[in-house]
Amino acid sequence: MSETKFKFDKNIPAEILRSIQKNLSALEFLIPAWCHEVNVEYLTDGALTGVSENCLADSHIHYQYRNGALAFYPGYMAESESERMNTCIHEMLHLTVNILYYYSRGEIIDLTEGKDELQKHILDEQERRLESVISDLAYSLQKRFAVG
Ligand SMILES: [Zn+2]
Repeated sequence: MSETKFKFDKNIPAEILRSIQKNLSALEFLIPAWCHEVNVEYLTDGALTGVSENCLADSHIHYQYRNGALAFYPGYMAESESERMNTCIHEMLHLTVNILYYYSRGEIIDLTEGKDELQKHILDEQERRLESVISDLAYSLQKRFAVG
């Protein structure tokens, strides 16, 4: 019997916690080996954290501290069960892939200093490719974890 790496914020409303907990527990195997803890919270005001209004969830990694974080927003509960699971899969995959993303993003910014147009071009493309990789991996997993 293994202990979960998820740490759920105490302020997550019960109904929302049930949905998030059910989906994430099925996906715990996706937590990368370096990551010892994933903090999960529910935020009612995405504007405070700078996310767009229709954002369902997002993720952050703190690689040097060996932890990650997932945040869920009100839009998450407005979705179907199947879309909620897809959202969880998507954000869990970011925990693994974002190490490469953040590193290369920093290098691109350093190497294109003073070349704003080039920098924006490369960063935009990098972001598109990040989400494409995540979407492709998520698509494969969604078939396996289909709900509803
Ligand atoms: Zn994403």
